[in-house]
Amino acid sequence: MSAKNQTKMQVPLLNLRAQYKSMKNEIGSAIQKILDNQSFILGPEVQALENEVARYCGTRYAVGVASGTDALFLSLKAMSIGDGDEVITTPFTFIATGGAIHNTGARPVFADIDPRTFNIDPSKIKERITKKTKALMPVHLYGLMADMDAINAVAKEADLKVIEDNAQGIGATYKGKVAGSMSDAGCISFFPGKNLGSYGDAGMVVTDDEKLAKRIKVIRVHGSTSKYIHETIGYNSRLDNLQAAILLVKLKYLDGWTRKRQENAAYYNANLKGLPLITTPHVPEHRAHVYHQYTIRVARVRNGLMDHLNEHGIEARIYYPIPLHLQECFKQLGYKKGDFPEAERAMDEALSLPVDSELSSEQKEYIVATIREFFSK
Ligand SMILES: *Cc1c(COP(=O)(O)O)cnc(C)c1O
Repeated sequence: MSAKNQTKMQVPLLNLRAQYKSMKNEIGSAIQKILDNQSFILGPEVQALENEVARYCGTRYAVGVASGTDALFLSLKAMSIGDGDEVITTPFTFIATGGAIHNTGARPVFADIDPRTFNIDPSKIKERITKKTKALMPVHLYGLMADMDAINAVAKEADLKVIEDNAQGIGATYKGKVAGSMSDAGCISFFPGKNLGSYGDAGMVVTDDEKLAKRIKVIRVHGSTSKYIHETIGYNSRLDNLQAAILLVKLKYLDGWTRKRQENAAYYNANLKGLPLITTPHVPEHRAHVYHQYTIRVARVRNGLMDHLNEHGIEARIYYPIPLHLQECFKQLGYKKGDFPEAERAMDEALSLPVDSELSSEQKEYIVATIREFFSK
């Protein structure tokens, strides 16, 4: 099939409107119920969502907070990580990972990625550990879990906490264990564009640690243990009942959506095979990828291919165009270009294609045909 003979199709990276249409009535009545009750903050829907998400992730506790960023920040705070401490993470992630560490007063320390998975390379962590290191914060980038066994082994040896930035990996697995359940705290984002997205901001921490769960519950609501009793100064990072009610509806569909994402990924894998400059995502054995993003590597001609796709109505995007160690806001950390060669190569080669559950067969065929047309020129 030649893309030239087709009419131009519009393919958004994410089609939330179509997803909403498929459950409009259910969402509507969930919202209506909250409006009828006029109870908006940390109510029964939040509790129900915490129970459901804990069950889904296979953890004993879940604590709803205002965003994924806050899930990271409050986890660190609840572990008393702050001024003078260091937390090791990946430079190839969304800014919030490093920002949450920085905002506690701790210093983000980066370790380069494994080029095959885009995730932090466990073998690069050890050399970054100092006396100040308190925790490791792997990110399950694009929906593929980081090498948690290797990361946990390093943490155990050095007596460090581990916090999973699971903003992108809800439902992903590693040797049968669910993302978020393989560390001291798993931090989920329900940002609208994530695989399980709310209709505003929301987040959650999942954990098996009862003390940690309790501490986060206290600091998410001004450090209050009961009304107007404050042992510590906390924050306002509460989860809305409206968001929780919407998420309770959407959670039932999550596995179905994930399967569609995986089918879309399998289609790309099969149909992009044999194109010389493209590397399709690598999924190590015993891991299930949930494809928050379907991200290929394109050697040398990535920007040309992206422009070609964009010109043909296909929303292909770069996640992430600047790794954290090269961001202006982290200049004071003293990193420079060349410090993390694999993160920098990923920044030049990564390209995410539309992969969400609402993608049609025609759209997938059109995307593959448009990519093939670029390489036939
Ligand atoms: C989205 C995201 C966050 C932040 O989540 P918010 O809910 O937007 O605050 C953190 N880390 C990563 C890797 C993300 O993709």
